[in-house]
Amino acid sequence: MSNRILCDFRSDTLTTPCAGMRAAMADAEVGDDVYGEDPTVLRLQDQLAERLGKDAALFFASGTQSNLAGMLAHCGRGEEIIVGAPYHTYVYEAAGASVLGGIALYPVPVADGRHITPDTIRAAVKEDDNHHAISRLLACEHTVSGRVIPLETIRQSTDTARAHGLNCHLDGARFFNAVVALDIDPAALAAPFDTVSICLSKGLGTPVGSVLVGNRDLIAKAHRLRKMLGGGMRQAGVLAAAGIYALAHNIGRLAEDHARAHDLASFLSNHNAGEVVQDTNMVFLRGAPDDMLDDKMRRCGIEIGGPYDIRRLVLHKDIDDSALSAAKKAFAEHL
Ligand SMILES: *Cc1c(COP(=O)(O)O)cnc(C)c1O
Repeated sequence: MSNRILCDFRSDTLTTPCAGMRAAMADAEVGDDVYGEDPTVLRLQDQLAERLGKDAALFFASGTQSNLAGMLAHCGRGEEIIVGAPYHTYVYEAAGASVLGGIALYPVPVADGRHITPDTIRAAVKEDDNHHAISRLLACEHTVSGRVIPLETIRQSTDTARAHGLNCHLDGARFFNAVVALDIDPAALAAPFDTVSICLSKGLGTPVGSVLVGNRDLIAKAHRLRKMLGGGMRQAGVLAAAGIYALAHNIGRLAEDHARAHDLASFLSNHNAGEVVQDTNMVFLRGAPDDMLDDKMRRCGIEIGGPYDIRRLVLHKDIDDSALSAAKKAFAEHL
């Protein structure tokens, strides 16, 4: 068999813009967004603010930049963010809030691989004492490695944070996967948070872009910060048009990714592939019996995440039923 990639499970960031999305980008009405004159960017921002029930939104080049501007909008130098130890904002964003904002990041354990419990928050908040950093923000994430968190559980965390005077930020890179899996109104899921960062370039399938959503004052601060971070873009409507297309066409279909992930997880369990954990569009495989599995799969045109002791398989819009069947056939031969 050739080395052509039939099926790339490494990430939902690998999704490519479809013909419809490319046409929307080509047709986008544009202006200079640094002047606030790009109608397509303004439309994308308005649409997301409305869907999430917030005042305002701001388009960013990446989720890292959107989270960073959000965290810098909430916190000043000498202040502290309580963040889940495995979260992207702590592990994978080069400590930008500390480097560029003088903000301390305080990593805390998460329960059940996902949320920060009220007890953990109570123990993490520092007393108002001149020895300590000033606790300012709870940074949450949803989904966490594909896992969803019930709204009630989220509320318990954010209510506890607020009772201690903290603001709440959500890294909602895969917010709409959670919305679809929980079958909930996006505004209800966003309501516990002051700011929410959403990636358009993961399962929603755009080439570029994230949006920070929140109240007017915080988004105004984030706007200045975006400029400072070098994130002002000019005729960005070409990119925002992809986001508008994604909101119209690619949210409902996330349920297909979740169903295929479930199907793949059942298949791997039935073939004794190791310990399989799946939620929304992600499948994790722990202790797969064969170190050569990645190489064998690659020879069949199948890329899987890793190499780690935990392998990750992510379903997305560029893996359809026939690609999934081909992958299952290859797994069956090699497991
Ligand atoms: C992808 C991702 C981000 C943002 O990543 P960028 O590559 O900067 O767009 C943030 N948080 C989580 C959980 C992510 O998966």
